[in-house]
Amino acid sequence: MARIVKLNSKPSRDIGPIVYVMSRDQRVHDNYALLCAQREALAKNLPLVVVFNLLEKTGVRSREHYAFMRDGLQEVQTELSKHSIEFVLLIGTPSVTIPHFADQVNAASIYFDFNPLRGVRSLQKHVAKTVDVSCTVVDAHNIIPAWVLSDKEEFAAHTIRRKVHKHLDTWLVEPPALHSHNQRLDLSQHSESWESADTVIAQVPQSSIHILYAPGESAARAELQKFVDTRLSSYASHRNVPTVDGQSNLSPYIHFGHISTQRIALTLMHESTEIPLLLKEAKLASYDGEPTKQDSINALLEELIVRKELADNYCFYNTNYDSLKGAKPWATETLAAHSQDEREYLYTKIQWEDAQTHDPAWNAAQREMMRTGKMHGYMRMYWAKKILEWSASPEEAIATAIYLNDRYSIDGGDPNGYTGIMWSIAGVHDRAWFERSVYGKIRYMNYGGLKRKFDIESYITTWN
Ligand SMILES: Cc1cc2nc3c(=O)[nH]c(=O)nc-3n(C[C@H](O)[C@H](O)[C@H](O)COP(=O)(O)OP(=O)(O)OC[C@H]3O[C@@H](n4cnc5c(N)ncnc54)[C@H](O)[C@@H]3O)c2cc1C
Repeated sequence: MARIVKLNSKPSRDIGPIVYVMSRDQRVHDNYALLCAQREALAKNLPLVVVFNLLEKTGVRSREHYAFMRDGLQEVQTELSKHSIEFVLLIGTPSVTIPHFADQVNAASIYFDFNPLRGVRSLQKHVAKTVDVSCTVVDAHNIIPAWVLSDKEEFAAHTIRRKVHKHLDTWLVEPPALHSHNQRLDLSQHSESWESADTVIAQVPQSSIHILYAPGESAARAELQKFVDTRLSSYASHRNVPTVDGQSNLSPYIHFGHISTQRIALTLMHESTEIPLLLKEAKLASYDGEPTKQDSINALLEELIVRKELADNYCFYNTNYDSLKGAKPWATETLAAHSQDEREYLYTKIQWEDAQTHDPAWNAAQREMMRTGKMHGYMRMYWAKKILEWSASPEEAIATAIYLNDRYSIDGGDPNGYTGIMWSIAGVHDRAWFERSVYGKIRYMNYGGLKRKFDIESYITTWN
């Protein structure tokens, strides 16, 4: 099955539990990694265990993000237990804890969910080398598995859209339901307690974000339903208006894997009155006059599949996804040619973080993110481009934008974030525009553009 890739050629045993190391896809239903692990467990009549490893040394993410994740994982444990599937929480360095756990329980084989980011991939390779059983990775996050969709770094949305269109029929299908097991292995002696997890989480610096969304798989489904019932019809006309709650607000759930994009897309198919554009043609959705509900569905499928899977493609095939080295030659050349241009303003990390620039629109966007954990998608582009304009170098701008996005955005630390920042600052998936100071040929955005598009004054009043 092409959703699966073997990480080693070691044997899968016929005794011991099948282990699924849950990481990016923190949900029980519509999770192909769990389903593939279960298929082997049922075929061999073996127990199934889901393991999650909480890092002891955390990065820039804030305590609020860990708390959101922790509550989602507790729901995973409860839901798994209804299916007689054991859940084990490990705490520590996963390159040590996972092989140790596999050894202690005599794992029959190990499954991982897919993440294109460097750290996760090298961890999975390390485990596959260290243990003496079969290790497999399953793309449970993308509708079309990343390696099926394309075998190379795609140039732009229009090149990957053609491939999405070609494959979508095959992959956008209802996933099988999870079965219940008739045997459950008690591995509680190997599991850390939630209290220990709380002790680790309590050491992560807080960031005073007040996350507006309830965590977990059922909350994610409820959020999707609320969006479908109240805002889907107007998504195409409202999604780019930062003063209106017009986006789906599903990115926190997608990022933590509380819901699959497959489930969202299938729900949208159900709401469709005609065959969605992506299935009919490899064309970008466009509309004259007032967009219809079907236009909204087409527009959301474009974001959810084309843009999102393009981001995974970029991070999968370009390991420099978070630095200027990941840009195309035209972009690095133009940015280098303008590296000595005078910057009208220069800000320190603290000034950025405290929303202390001269620009009320930028400060408002930063405050929206710091208060709610989510900046409006349209403002994200402006926000990142201004970091380029008011930083000493593009390298510094990329590092600042990644730090702020990962620290404050609940959906941060994600391929979408790295790709969005590289699009804004380094022209990734974009083309050359008119040349200007600092930006060179990178696409420019300004306050006047915001003013023409929506009521920027009202946005500023809300967040400042
Ligand atoms: C500088 C910058 C930083 C960004 N950082 C992140 C991030 O950290 N995490 C993140 O998930 N997205 C990020 N994005 C992409 C996009 O802005 C968000 O996905 C979107 O605003 C999330 O809100 P939503 O779920 O309500 O969006 P909706 O408009 O309702 O879209 C639904 C889903 O489609 C996908 N999607 C939408 N727009 C994009 C896009 N441009 N690229 C890739 N996928 C997309 C996301 O999975 C999103 O959840 C960033 C974009 C930019 C320009």
